[in-house]
Amino acid sequence: MPDVDVERYQYDVLVIGAGGAGLRAAIAAAEHGARTGLVCKSLLGKAHTVMAEGGVAAAFGNVAAEDNWQVHFQDTMFSAKYINNWHMAELHAREAPDRVSELEQWGGIFDRTPDRRMDQRAFGGHTHRRLVHIGDRTGLELIRTLQDKTVHSDVDVFMECTITRLIKSGDRVCGAFGYRRAAGTFIVFEAKAVVLATGGAGRCWKITSNSGENAGDGHALAYEAGAELVDMEFIQFHPTGMVWPPGVIGLLVTEAVRGEGGILRNAEGERFMERYDPKRLELSTRDVVARAIYTEVREGRGTPHGGVFLDVSHLPDDTVKTRLPSMYDQFLELAGVDITREPMEVGPTCHYMMGGVSVDGETGASRVPGLFATGECTGGMNGANRLGGNSLSDLLVFGKRAGEGAADHAAGAPEPAIEDAAIADAEAELVDYLEGPAGEDPYELHAELQAAMQADCGIFRHSETLAAALAVIEGLGRRAATVRASSPERVYNNGWQLCRDLRNMLIISEAVARAAQLRHESRGAHSRLDYPDFDDYWGEHNIVVRKGEDGMQVEPRPVIKAAHLTELVDARKEAERV
Ligand SMILES: Cc1cc2nc3c(=O)[nH]c(=O)nc-3n(C[C@H](O)[C@H](O)[C@H](O)COP(=O)(O)OP(=O)(O)OC[C@H]3O[C@@H](n4cnc5c(N)ncnc54)[C@H](O)[C@@H]3O)c2cc1C
Repeated sequence: MPDVDVERYQYDVLVIGAGGAGLRAAIAAAEHGARTGLVCKSLLGKAHTVMAEGGVAAAFGNVAAEDNWQVHFQDTMFSAKYINNWHMAELHAREAPDRVSELEQWGGIFDRTPDRRMDQRAFGGHTHRRLVHIGDRTGLELIRTLQDKTVHSDVDVFMECTITRLIKSGDRVCGAFGYRRAAGTFIVFEAKAVVLATGGAGRCWKITSNSGENAGDGHALAYEAGAELVDMEFIQFHPTGMVWPPGVIGLLVTEAVRGEGGILRNAEGERFMERYDPKRLELSTRDVVARAIYTEVREGRGTPHGGVFLDVSHLPDDTVKTRLPSMYDQFLELAGVDITREPMEVGPTCHYMMGGVSVDGETGASRVPGLFATGECTGGMNGANRLGGNSLSDLLVFGKRAGEGAADHAAGAPEPAIEDAAIADAEAELVDYLEGPAGEDPYELHAELQAAMQADCGIFRHSETLAAALAVIEGLGRRAATVRASSPERVYNNGWQLCRDLRNMLIISEAVARAAQLRHESRGAHSRLDYPDFDDYWGEHNIVVRKGEDGMQVEPRPVIKAAHLTELVDARKEAERV
């Protein structure tokens, strides 16, 4: 039977995750009259979104009058290699300016043009200067503004609280179970609707720009609850992470550096992007630039620390220090490099999950009644490759929609009731990680998983490397059954947390490797050495992953198109052929 100390709460809408997506969803749900709870693993304001640097993509046309939602939509489609959900890309491009303007009304302050409009900077794959920003600290202002709005909305916030299970009643989700990191006690939320906003899963890879929280919890919770995951094979490796010193490998070097005029050169001094994308050069899409850098290094033209050079020393000192203040500080403090004088050394780093919970773009609803999702833990919007800046706008647009969708659902849903047996079962799993017989070390298993995903399921894949990755994942899955925290202490026990995170990461890694194995072509961020070209069949299909009776099911599903957008899509395809 459940622990007598278990805390219980009841809400109309429970939002799991307090990054940009979760905060925006919670604000929307509360504004729609839903009693709303918001849970996050760490402190409010510390979510991964706070690290976002370059900006939010929104077609205001402030510095390029010819920009509009249609061009933004077309850029997104081109970058996604046309296999994203067309209507989601349309909603995103149409609504992003309104969502950004709303942030301003709530107190967000963006950099200005001389005539006092929001400034917009260039970014890879965007036809026009489109990203509104606050220097290179955009995420900080975005989180600050949303957090401020949330605490003034009628939302109850539960910090340092990790959800480990979704609980269902019949086929519908009726709540969630978790534990408080600071106290080590258990907590239960009964809710008519649950919104997942848990971010990405970069911790599955060894070299990553992601924060420690990004273990793919929402992806895994949704999968276990019966939702579908889509586009899991597409992992974005950001072209520019730090490659040195060792303690900061993978730390992001924002694309804003290239947006402001940064030039990429190999160790021979060649501006190598001229060979890979002579039209867009450094401002090509991320999949292209990451592959180019990886290839330069593999073919022996890399820098001493295994990267390439990124140079802004030709720009005025003032421009570097005011437009890229974090990058200036980051390199000076961490690598002893003054970027106004010397080039940076950079290489690809695992950055973003294009794949995630398959949702209805209008409402954020998954196929499981009562379960909604938004932000980086969803799939569909970005297809084979995300454009820089499109994540912050995505989470504003679809965060609002998911919060409203969940509130609407809750208004017609029955009172949620969680059975004691479900709580006892969820508790038993966590207690076993602490008190069960000695077993495997979670840190060791995690390191082995990261090494395998980095080596065999990274930028370039092959049927043989994917088979090797799957064999490792399967072996780790068996060993994970006896994983134990080294200390039975419940308060702030990171090993305990990792035992649970590991289960999630194994699900994500298997989904990525299986989907990558099935896609017999190269497209966007998925590069198969044994299938180097586009394939017509796969150009019309996404890959969907779901939990079956006998394990993971992976199968193709036709791309979700929208007839009214065909003309715009065809026009862009035609223009790219020229
Ligand atoms: C360094 C860096 C720079 C970036 N710059 C940009 C940029 O300039 N423009 C852009 O568009 N994108 C950028 N991105 C990407 C973008 O920041 C992310 O995709 C986006 O912030 C994800 O937001 P989110 O709300 O979906 O998730 P997150 O911000 O990751 O938030 C997830 C939340 O879920 C919580 N959570 C997770 N699991 C659980 C659980 N089990 N129980 C309870 N809570 C849980 C976490 O605690 C957290 O509160 C950048 C990313 C990085 C790493």
